[in-house]
Amino acid sequence: MALPRKKLVAGNWKMNMTSSEVTPYLETFRREIDEIDGVDIALIPPFTALTKASEILGGTQKIRLGAQNLSPEAKGAFTGEISAAMLRDLFVRYVLVGHSERRRLFGETDEIVRRKLVAALASELRPILCIGETLEERQAGQEKVVLETQLQGALAGLSKEDLAEVIVAYEPVWAIGTGLTATPAQAQEAHLFIREFLTKLAGAELAGKTRILYGGSVTADTAAELMSQPDIDGALVGGASLDPRGFAKIVAAAVTEE
Ligand code: PEP
Repeated sequence: MALPRKKLVAGNWKMNMTSSEVTPYLETFRREIDEIDGVDIALIPPFTALTKASEILGGTQKIRLGAQNLSPEAKGAFTGEISAAMLRDLFVRYVLVGHSERRRLFGETDEIVRRKLVAALASELRPILCIGETLEERQAGQEKVVLETQLQGALAGLSKEDLAEVIVAYEPVWAIGTGLTATPAQAQEAHLFIREFLTKLAGAELAGKTRILYGGSVTADTAAELMSQPDIDGALVGGASLDPRGFAKIVAAAVTEE
């Protein structure tokens, strides 16, 4: 039975691209994707480029905006932080939560990830919860334990209404920015495991509707085969999203012929 999951392709620019680079990027990218339909597209610029992207895109449907991070706090004396309400004000729809770079480089624990997820949901932002194992954990055969712990830590206790808003991104840490990609079979196995976890947590209907993205060195050459796997519902793309033409090719690879 075909499941009603529209693919989502999201480009995480990480700490790249100044505000003045946004306009030429968007001019090219919009031209390249003009003919593409049936795929949700998100761009996830750094905070300083979000304003410019938001001015150009406004609330347009074709390209949605995402943020790379948010504060778990609503407002106040948290110097350097950005709140969910500030993101909403810029028409931001998605927000990455628990990206492995934040977990690894900035000490984000599962509890911090959970609080950020709750803050995003409270402001009607759609969190993209990133989870994934390191190479050592995979080599030790621990990848499913790691995924389960991260899912449990972030999602336990959420209502079904909130869970329905969550998008999951499986991003094996060993594949991020390394040029190594999980094989389609490895990725599918992890995605199926995640969907089974969601089924146990919230039932088959909700799990069947939840989008699970793959991330980790996705390129225009690897995207189509990865996204043709039954439980892979799109891609979270880092490095390859910085080139608007290459990223448009990845978006095109998500279009499935019926
Ligand atoms: C990411 O940052 O989420 C990512 C998947 O990066 P890359 O595509 O560069 O591996």
